Amino acid sequence: MADIYYTAEKTCVICDKKFSVTRVRNRLSMLKQDSDFCTHYKEANPYYYAVWVCPHCGYAAQDTYFEEPFAKVATIKNFLTGRDVKVNFGGQRTRQDAINTYKLAIFFADMADTLPSRQASLYLKLAWLYREGGLPDEESVMLDQAREYYEKAFLKEKIPIGNMSQVTLEYLIGELLRRTGRLSDALHYLGKVVGSPQAKNEKRILEMAREAWSLARSAQKEQAAAAKKPVAAEE
Ligand SMILES: [Zn+2]
Repeated sequence: MADIYYTAEKTCVICDKKFSVTRVRNRLSMLKQDSDFCTHYKEANPYYYAVWVCPHCGYAAQDTYFEEPFAKVATIKNFLTGRDVKVNFGGQRTRQDAINTYKLAIFFADMADTLPSRQASLYLKLAWLYREGGLPDEESVMLDQAREYYEKAFLKEKIPIGNMSQVTLEYLIGELLRRTGRLSDALHYLGKVVGSPQAKNEKRILEMAREAWSLARSAQKEQAAAAKKPVAAEE
């Protein structure tokens, strides 16, 4: 078990000090993937370790761009200067530790005006942690935030975003809308994917979109039927 984890030395982009982070090796066995791309692995949950937190100054960001310099470094430096930060998220993390690291990363992403797609990805992973913890209300709030930022990304950013094509992004927005109960908006996005000529080249996404579309459609019908039921039928 122990050799799944390893440590690496990183340099903080805010305070220039070195610190070590715990990382998860890539060779985990995948168990399944949820319809919003949350991937479950047998040996560990790599999402627990995707946010790095500097123990010296408290700055936190996702591993993939933690070391990237950005325009608002000075703003964050000013904010953190003189604060007595005592955080240590080194070593193995509990789910609650991981949740706290995402909250920190979201806080700094906000302050740094990070790309909407990056904000979205933080909210999405935080939602997955709540899902794993059996907290559907918290999960739903975070899914909704992720959806909002993906919609912003869709308007503002160059597509593909990371490894997400336009079709994949439309599908994901639609699926997040469906999962948060916004069925007619979900049907709009999912319908675009189902009807898109480009989607023919992305068979897996097309299939997922069809499945989500029909789930959203039947949920909508159920809602309509429930709304028609006489009030007296309730106990
Ligand atoms: Zn630092």
